[in-house]
Amino acid sequence: GQVDIQCDMMVLGAGPGGYSAAFRAADLGMNTVLVERYSTLGGVCLNVGCIPSKALLHVAAVIDETSHMAAHGVAFMKPDVDIDKLRGYKDGVVKKMTGGLAGMAKGRKVTVVQGVGSFVSPNHIEVTAADGSKKVVQFKQAIIAAGSQAAKLPFIPEDPRIVDSTGALELRQVPKKMLVLGGGIIGLEMATVYSTLGARIDVVEMMDGLMQGADRDAVKVWQKYNEHRFDKIMLKTKTVGVEALPEGIRVTFEAAEQGGTAPEPQLYDMVLVAVGRTPNGKKIGAQNAGVAVTDRGFIPVNDQLRTNVDHIFAIGDVVGQPMLAHKAVHEAHVAAEAAAGEKAFFDAKVIPSVAYTDPEVAWAGITEDEAKAKGIKVEKGHFPWAASGRATANDRTEGFTKLLFDAETHRIIGGTIVGTGAGDMIGEIALAIEMGADGVDIGRTIHPHPTLGESIGMAAEVYEGVCTDLP
Ligand code: FAD
Repeated sequence: GQVDIQCDMMVLGAGPGGYSAAFRAADLGMNTVLVERYSTLGGVCLNVGCIPSKALLHVAAVIDETSHMAAHGVAFMKPDVDIDKLRGYKDGVVKKMTGGLAGMAKGRKVTVVQGVGSFVSPNHIEVTAADGSKKVVQFKQAIIAAGSQAAKLPFIPEDPRIVDSTGALELRQVPKKMLVLGGGIIGLEMATVYSTLGARIDVVEMMDGLMQGADRDAVKVWQKYNEHRFDKIMLKTKTVGVEALPEGIRVTFEAAEQGGTAPEPQLYDMVLVAVGRTPNGKKIGAQNAGVAVTDRGFIPVNDQLRTNVDHIFAIGDVVGQPMLAHKAVHEAHVAAEAAAGEKAFFDAKVIPSVAYTDPEVAWAGITEDEAKAKGIKVEKGHFPWAASGRATANDRTEGFTKLLFDAETHRIIGGTIVGTGAGDMIGEIALAIEMGADGVDIGRTIHPHPTLGESIGMAAEVYEGVCTDLP
């Protein structure tokens, strides 16, 4: 058949996984093509995920912080929100980042082919542009980085008042009363933004707690600090009906467990559906390349990120949990290096998770709840931020830093931080785990005073039974 472009490496999808893979492949000397359906690079993370959400969360955090200042003798005016300008700020942040990527692709001579890609053989992909024109790319090796999209619930009608995370990030309006359907990180980050902008929020979650995966003691701290944002947090509750009525979106609930009681149906001005992400593995013609895809749409890979077809790799959200940008990027580097013939393997001990709420909740490695559930013996160093001079100066003492050590080797195997800036600090714990550090290593590392990050050294000293002298 016809071939329009030939290359060493074809990368499908230009999210954090795809662009990182393409850049690394190009740096390693491969003639690289990057196929992306959207007009900008960056995928979900830069366009409708990590970055725009953080632009809005930044503004929300500033608003919330100024609202506390009256108690310290500095009263600000009630915020006067120009939602168009705020949206413009967020869009500008995204544009800067995606534009930067385009420049980096150009600098590396990565050929970007815009359109929807679908494999037609183990060495060919057909790319259909928006105008219907088609191009066939022939490749020696490929990396699939097709990502994921917001999961849908079958009974939810089409209505502009019902949105997924992408719709919520568009920030068209601030509703009076909003339901966040799904109490995971994405839903709670958006709840933070909308509640600060004036919405009253209900959250409904099937499981028995919000922010699954994080330790309950940390989530409790977050929840207590955020009580004011929520009218109702409905746990162990299933959403069974969503109706778009002229007067609002009517939502009906059922108890998730037998014998539980269900809340009454409620009317909302806006419903955010944040019930997880579905991988895009079934939408890329993988069968034509012989690449195996699971029923749920994930692509199984080995520790070099190779699929069952040796010269085709897969990375990022499409290969499985955790669906996080930094995981995608690291897998991308391994895949590109393995494709270039290097002995590269994905062998990260931990992948940190962060909820960029206020306060932030961040964790890496094993959690205390997980250790308990699995019967793994851990010892902990727990440092409450009420004892931190910096947290006190910031008037944000609700947090804590918790380190978990292997009871036998005394090496750190996990850590959780809840508090302002927790996400920026968790990298140190990840590094300590990767390096096999023990409590003495961490406690004797001189951390600057007074910082919140110093709480990591202090938690280690608490574990070692050493007196921590500095407040
Ligand atoms: P994606 O970013 O999903 O990119 C896949 C790309 O492939 C897309 O651009 C898509 O258009 C393209 N594509 C797919 N199929 C085709 C095809 N057939 N042809 C052409 N192109 C195709 N993660 C974090 O680590 N930190 C965060 O703070 C964070 N915040 C988030 C907030 C929100 C609201 C959401 C939704 C997600 C967030 N995530 C966050 C998750 C993060 O966005 C993903 O883990 C990350 O984007 C995955 O990267 P990826 O490269 O695997 O796929």
